[in-house]
Amino acid sequence: MSETLENLSSETRQFPPPADLAAAANVTAEAYQEAADDRLAYWERQAERLSWTKPWDQVLDWSNPPFAKWFVGGELNVAYNCVDRHVEAGNGDRVAIHWEGEPGDTRTVTYAELLISVSQAANTLTELGVVAGDRVAIYLPMIPEAAVAMLACARIGATHSVVFGGFSVEALSTRINDADAKVVITADGGYRRGKPSALKPTVDEAVARCASIEHVLVVRRTGQEVAWTDKDKWWHETVEQASPEHKAQPFEAEHPLFILYTSGTTGNPKGILHTTGGYLTQASYTHNAVFDLKPETDVYWCTADIGWVTGHSYIVYGPLSNGATQVMYEGTPDTPDRGRFWQIVDKYKVSILYTAPTLIRTMMKWGDDIPAKYDLSSLRVLGSVGEPINPEAWMWYREHVGRERTPIVDTWWQTETGAVMISPLPGVTAAKPGSAMTALPGISADVVDDQAESVPNGGGGFLVLTEPWPSMLRTIWRDDKRFIDTYWSRFGAGAGNGDKWVYFAGDGAKKDEDGALWLLGRVDDVMLISGHNISTTEVESALVSHPAVAEAAVVGATDPTTGQAIVAFTIPRGNVVTEGEAGQELIKELRNHVAKTLGPIAKPRQIMLVTELPKTRSGKIMRRLLRDVAENRSLGDVTTLQDSAVMDLISSGMNSAKSED
Ligand code: ATP
Ligand code: MG
Repeated sequence: MSETLENLSSETRQFPPPADLAAAANVTAEAYQEAADDRLAYWERQAERLSWTKPWDQVLDWSNPPFAKWFVGGELNVAYNCVDRHVEAGNGDRVAIHWEGEPGDTRTVTYAELLISVSQAANTLTELGVVAGDRVAIYLPMIPEAAVAMLACARIGATHSVVFGGFSVEALSTRINDADAKVVITADGGYRRGKPSALKPTVDEAVARCASIEHVLVVRRTGQEVAWTDKDKWWHETVEQASPEHKAQPFEAEHPLFILYTSGTTGNPKGILHTTGGYLTQASYTHNAVFDLKPETDVYWCTADIGWVTGHSYIVYGPLSNGATQVMYEGTPDTPDRGRFWQIVDKYKVSILYTAPTLIRTMMKWGDDIPAKYDLSSLRVLGSVGEPINPEAWMWYREHVGRERTPIVDTWWQTETGAVMISPLPGVTAAKPGSAMTALPGISADVVDDQAESVPNGGGGFLVLTEPWPSMLRTIWRDDKRFIDTYWSRFGAGAGNGDKWVYFAGDGAKKDEDGALWLLGRVDDVMLISGHNISTTEVESALVSHPAVAEAAVVGATDPTTGQAIVAFTIPRGNVVTEGEAGQELIKELRNHVAKTLGPIAKPRQIMLVTELPKTRSGKIMRRLLRDVAENRSLGDVTTLQDSAVMDLISSGMNSAKSED
């Protein structure tokens, strides 16, 4: 049995870059050749984007794979690179952050002001006894202090571990304990869905379970009542009173910068460790190249939360190292109404927008008329990250948000990769809807079969990275064995096959006839139907290509005749009638639509019309839970699930659908 993936869909639409963007692009087509000619020299040139206090002696030490060292011997300070040097260059008055609170309150933070806040926070952490190498947990809403706290840690060489502000006591305390953090930085609360949502009580309970915590720094955001312990200190009584002078010390390129846990889509989250010089080099380079950022004129907005890697690399380290002006938004996309995102784009004249497919599909579900009400003409580059973007969602994004003008960059990467790896370049690539296209200059990716052989164009298999890259994870925190087992033991030297180390990303992918890369979802989610390996993404995209469908998740469920059969959970678009007969008709039509689009092998056995899908807190669909439902099992780990009520709804619908069959 072959373990490679079927290639069922084909896409002929293609959109070349706008001529004016191409003519002024930060990175041009030559970069691919330059990087191919001498990959390490190419990365050295990218590292020169940063200010180093001591140059490196060796660009890459790969003598002890899979443990890489980049820019060995080099020294720099991350916060200096993200803040001080812009002020020193005379750009202190430039806005770093246009912050928009959910209730509509705003703050404007210039680079000069950011420098003061980061210096004060660095002084306070030092006074609290935090020294280089210590860990600091950050559990904050989307407020400027989140970026300040991260940069203050970086400035003094402390390792931050940001935990998403919606996580439970359990998730927070296990992350604090895993990292042995000394300090937690939090807030009284933040605004979510129109009301204050408390954070401090969760921290109080978590800290009671964490012996390592010595101090809790609390930002006052909502002004709600908080319980107080002798470990607690107000941010405004400490940080805001501290000296605004702080001299940044350099750290070695391999000094740890942060630990971040993966989203937990596939199971138990992993504490991913990133270091300093290589990480910042690639975050800075990709942010410049992939978004074509012009720091003097662009207004950039990444809608991710600071608790995810996207927030680390593309709210904090990438944009700030590049001196960008960005928008930061505290709240949800439907508060006070479903036009909130577009209102923000309109208000700040956002020119680069980076968001997730889950949000784009939600906006599709809400209807085209909503973005149509706003002036979105400032937009010039759109980005997507987090999941495969279905071709129809891509087209919707282009048409209703980009108004047919803007390129879309579908960026593939992971917490583990630290920065974007596979993406179009907006001034170079003629992008295809739904494809991440090709590895960036400097990055080596391939699709291989189960024998680790590169598949030909038109073939599907496993996505691998065949050369080390600067922002790669260095290990799983305190678990080198899991690091090797998870990423390096499937192919190449780590699997006893040759002497080349090959990183296995866990994702399926295919190469189309032109060699462009299409991400096909997790290999754990691949369905085996009558001996064919079918990806979830292709069937989901076929469903989403039907005008009645906004979002779909498919799983393989055990089936007596075909081994596995396809079960689809489908969210109809806002205006679609699904009651009674109409619902049954729609289901029939959708099954036939998939069979017609991809072939009869991909026809779902069963389609459920649902109103929500189980997602992680970062908005990714958790197919493993749907598989539990489809196979009538009790649910697996749900700690990273966004809303547990969704599962009850889906399970009860599933049971009633079964009894009708
Ligand atoms: P865990 O590893 O704990 O299961 P996770 O993989 O969801 O969690 P992240 O590191 O946040 O945690 O997500 C990375 C994954 O997201 C990738 O491996 C891939 O499956 C998916 N992904 C991200 N961007 C894209 C994209 N542009 N196209 C397709 N898939 C993407
Ligand atoms: Mg993962």
